[in-house]
Amino acid sequence: MAGRLSTWLRGEGEAEASLASLRAAKDAAEAANEAKTRFLASVAHEIRSPLNAIYGYAQLLERGDGKDVLGAARVIRRSAEHLAHLVEGLLDISQVEGGAMTLSREAIRFPEFLEQLIAMLELQAQSKGLALVLERPERLPEYVHADPKRLRQVLINLVANAIKFTDHGSVTLKVDYRNELATFAVIDTGIGIAPEDAQRIFAPFERVGGPAGERPGVGLGLAITQALVHIMGGEIRLESAPGEGSRFTVRLMLSQPLTPPSEPAPEAGAVTGYLGRERWVVLIDDDAAHLAMVKGFLEPLGFQVRTACDAASGLAIAAQVQPDLVLCDVMLGSENGWDVAAQLRARHGAALKIVMLSGEGLGSTVPPPASGGASDTFIMKPFAFTDLLDVIADQLGMEWVRAAGEPRLPAKAGDAATALPRIIAPVAAAHCAEIERLVRIGHVRAIEAEIDAIAALAPEAAPLAERMRSALDSFDLKALAGLAKAVQTDAA
Ligand code: ADP
Repeated sequence: MAGRLSTWLRGEGEAEASLASLRAAKDAAEAANEAKTRFLASVAHEIRSPLNAIYGYAQLLERGDGKDVLGAARVIRRSAEHLAHLVEGLLDISQVEGGAMTLSREAIRFPEFLEQLIAMLELQAQSKGLALVLERPERLPEYVHADPKRLRQVLINLVANAIKFTDHGSVTLKVDYRNELATFAVIDTGIGIAPEDAQRIFAPFERVGGPAGERPGVGLGLAITQALVHIMGGEIRLESAPGEGSRFTVRLMLSQPLTPPSEPAPEAGAVTGYLGRERWVVLIDDDAAHLAMVKGFLEPLGFQVRTACDAASGLAIAAQVQPDLVLCDVMLGSENGWDVAAQLRARHGAALKIVMLSGEGLGSTVPPPASGGASDTFIMKPFAFTDLLDVIADQLGMEWVRAAGEPRLPAKAGDAATALPRIIAPVAAAHCAEIERLVRIGHVRAIEAEIDAIAALAPEAAPLAERMRSALDSFDLKALAGLAKAVQTDAA
């Protein structure tokens, strides 16, 4: 009896415990739901005001009373920029929340990384008459392990905020490094933060201090910064008082590589052509810019290239020229690239090599058919041209002809266009480093944005931006990379 009673009691206890845990789960789900509703309401609210401005000013322009066209255009551009920041921030937040944000671990040159970061923000500080100071110990490790993109994002958010909320004095980035623990303090002499606001400013869309519009922003920066710091396993702290400035401190473990990473091996001479008979390639892609870019890359190497922007013309051109290779996008507008591959295979047999190019971004790719599809292989977009060459050589069993030694640089350091005023040279160099990276993956739209950013730095940058644009327009990516490299050499 006693045994049965204790079993029953235990059973009762367990039932109560599971009821309590169910209740807790229900409360948590309800709280999460409420938080989501609040969040969505804030998003809608944040979108509405810039959208209203765009809508209103566009109608004014349409009416054509022509009063202040430039002013209206400026408001529209600012509102669009605000919306673009908002979208970027929301994507970051959703990545963090969904656990989809992965960190890279790279050996970065620590002192150089910090100096570049300051160079990027220097103009912003100068335009407000503020001193921007990097305070660092004499001895810092040459290399540390970090995700450079995310660490940069954290520090830029904090320093940019410090500049934004400071009207007189200085902003200091103070860096310390001891026993693999890096401490970054961003100290300003700005408006400060009241103790009652110290917590909530880290929540999405929470903004305090001054009327909206006076200091632009969307209120996502600190939420993203805090989330990133936590993902990196670190902590963030705030010390501040109204009128006495603020100090945001981030502490992160940044280990040092045991041995300094080896410098990249010197590049083999650039590919200039191939051995053997002439090869025919058909490109099928609904993105005209991508077609032009790949064609502009392959033709100078001696390929005969034909392009098609939909399935029907792709199949017709292939029937006409009997190519050696077809490069086909998996998403052709409303059509499915895998179906095109199957038809090509049926008509041309195994001798035709088919390489599928998959769409950019998560979730935009049409999955291959269950059978695995008719293609020979698959490349993810955006891809590095060198990777495309590897795939082509592999599929067609070809051998490349390479230029002897270093690739020819179409622009030399010290060239009139690449020598920029000292004040903008470091920032232009940072944009150029990004352009070099983008050239390697052939991301045309992002390159255009970087060139626009260079053009916006100062009137003196206009000739450089112009040369870069014309190199990009003619898909002379080698010339573009040469210019980007020369600017960095000049700035060093
Ligand atoms: P945003 O800067 O877009 O408004 P953030 O999330 O980066 O959004 O910051 C939230 C709020 O925190 C800001 O609106 C401001 O009120 C406050 N804040 C952030 N940094 C500072 C700072 N250095 N000095 C004073 N207030 C700050």
